[in-house]
Amino acid sequence: MTDPKDRLDALRADIERRNPGQPEFHQAVREVLDTLGPVLTARPQYAEAGLVERLLEPERQIIFRVPWTDDHGRVHVNRGYRVEFNSALGPYKGGLRFHPSVDIGVVKFLGFEQIFKNALTGLGIGGGKGGSDFDPHGKSAAEVMRFCQSFMTELARHIGEHTDIPAGDIGVGGREIGYLFGQYRRITNRWEAGVLTGKGQGWGGSVIRPEATGYGAVLFAAEMLKARGEALDGLSAVVSGSGNVALYTIEKLQQLGANPLTASDSSGYVVDDKGIDLALLKQIKEVERGRVSEYATRRGPSARFVRQGRVWEVPADVAFPSATQNELDVEDARTLIANGVKAVSEGANMPTTPEAVHLFQEAGVAFGPGKAANAGGVAVSALEMAQNASRVAWSRERVEDELAGIMRSIHAVSHETAERYGSPGDYVTGANIAGFERVADAMLAQGVI
Ligand code: NDP
Repeated sequence: MTDPKDRLDALRADIERRNPGQPEFHQAVREVLDTLGPVLTARPQYAEAGLVERLLEPERQIIFRVPWTDDHGRVHVNRGYRVEFNSALGPYKGGLRFHPSVDIGVVKFLGFEQIFKNALTGLGIGGGKGGSDFDPHGKSAAEVMRFCQSFMTELARHIGEHTDIPAGDIGVGGREIGYLFGQYRRITNRWEAGVLTGKGQGWGGSVIRPEATGYGAVLFAAEMLKARGEALDGLSAVVSGSGNVALYTIEKLQQLGANPLTASDSSGYVVDDKGIDLALLKQIKEVERGRVSEYATRRGPSARFVRQGRVWEVPADVAFPSATQNELDVEDARTLIANGVKAVSEGANMPTTPEAVHLFQEAGVAFGPGKAANAGGVAVSALEMAQNASRVAWSRERVEDELAGIMRSIHAVSHETAERYGSPGDYVTGANIAGFERVADAMLAQGVI
């Protein structure tokens, strides 16, 4: 039989050949394949069933035209995507991203990661992802609404509460989910609450869903520190981004006694020596939909804005990349390590380049990969689906307890699996293998499909 390592190398080359021009997808695949050798050696039945080959090919990829009219009557055409990657564990589940950088390779990277992340939650959800190259920046609310309605007019035929359940991601928050849900309801004439998650409270949304990803990333960091006999209380933190994940990362850090010093967007970052004033940041980002630079102008002398700067140059004990893919590279990792960083917890998907991950691990920094660390969002989405199915809304205490329990269990299984496969403390290997085993066992049982 072929040596698992040779087989994985051949698969990697094959993926790159058959999916040209998709560097993010190649990167996400490489990062997983690099860790699967030991599990394929230990369990040859996976290789015999062609499991990895099947996992790498999405079950279905949908690409569609999204025409819409702006406020001046001009017609625009964007491209919409939904990649239904794997449904061995449950209906496809994963967010929608609206950002000019979205293409099929980006959606496939996100959908591929989502398979393992969703498996780690233990909640019976498959992996998928979607979005569009539509740029919501600078668009009026009416334009965003018309875009969402056009997007859903095509997407509606592919999704459903038992088939595929989208949610938010970059550029898609509560407002967009509302417009998408409204159009789905209009087209189908059904109150099918479980078709989208991240809905508003009062019409099927769950408490804690907006907070869940950021809260979860902080809880994961706390678990990693605890495993080393340390705590978050009193530590300083750097956080990138100023969207959904970043805001609630900052909130949970403050609740646990840590001091987040920064926030950023694509124009630069703010650093606040007194610690971020979250009420002011939320007012600017969530209410006014403004830029992070305004924070420095309004906050006073403790804060300054660094145009086009890298947030990672601010010295801190823990780091939370919470904006986008490949935002933390090897130079940033060197700076963070030189400044004594103890832990990095990925709120965003694949924000750390592979070389930077390697550096952190070599330097003994606790590194929580997004698949594990940011799984709190999709976990609470699955709890939203459970509430929708039973038509009962749970209390804040209950959802928060469930989220904390899920993050503890994701940490435990990643930690334990890494040890079992001879890589103690390596959460990348632990999370990849633990997620893979769950999906692989379900695929084995369900035959070659
Ligand atoms: P938002 O759209 O709410 O916020 C994104 C933030 O990141 C903004 O501050 C944005 O700045 C910044 N950003 C986005 N793209 C870039 C870029 N190319 N360069 C620099 N800054 C950028 O998105 P979310 O907070 O929801 O998502 C952030 C990350 O977390 C993504 O990687 C997402 O996939 C991941 N994630 C999100 C989950 C969720 O529940 N929402 C769940 C799990 C993971 P600007 O406004 O200037 O573009």
